[in-house]
Amino acid sequence: MARFLSVTSTSPEETRILGASLGPVLLPGDVISLSGDLGAGKTVLVQGLAASLGVRGRVTSPSFTIVHEYKARYPILHIDVYRLNSFQEVIDLGFEELLDPGAVMVVEWGEAVAPMLPSRHLEIDMRQGESDDERVLYFKPHGIEWASKLELMRSTAETLLDAASPDDSKGARFAYALAPSPREHGGEPPDGLED
Ligand code: ADP
Ligand code: MG
Repeated sequence: MARFLSVTSTSPEETRILGASLGPVLLPGDVISLSGDLGAGKTVLVQGLAASLGVRGRVTSPSFTIVHEYKARYPILHIDVYRLNSFQEVIDLGFEELLDPGAVMVVEWGEAVAPMLPSRHLEIDMRQGESDDERVLYFKPHGIEWASKLELMRSTAETLLDAASPDDSKGARFAYALAPSPREHGGEPPDGLED
């Protein structure tokens, strides 16, 4: 049975904290796949993650350039396959060569390239919540290493979210969920990336 760890973010800042909480568990070779509609907060999450690994500059969506590389504690490859129209384009981009054992790779719209991802990776699914600034994040570890890394990330995140929130809204934020609800727009990958 698929078990997802879910958490609700109520602001971009909280989403950055969630991204930053991944920093301490990330090692070279790790791959994170981000799913969610445009505006779900994928890039915001990467901003927190990158900052926690020591990236100083601005982290923006690599939608047009496809790949951004940041120098940090380890090189970070920030990829967004949204603009790619076919699997062939993903291959032409050299996606598989980008899987660098010396770098951390984060892929926006990762579900579209799922067959090319290593079997061990972290999947994060992001959904619009009930209010404008609310997002629900679903974390799914693939592989035993990610199951334990995710538990560490969770306790870091609980501590940091508590520290950042007003006194009246402290308490455990994470919960197990069966699976994210279907995406409003059907969860379609970008045009043509289905096969
Ligand atoms: P994506 O990369 O998924 O297309 P972005 O991260 O570029 O999305 O943009 C998310 C947008 O939603 C930003 O404008 C951000 O300020 C806004 N936002 C509002 N609430 C949140 C939240 N809780 N988490 C992340 N982003 C949020
Ligand atoms: Mg983005």
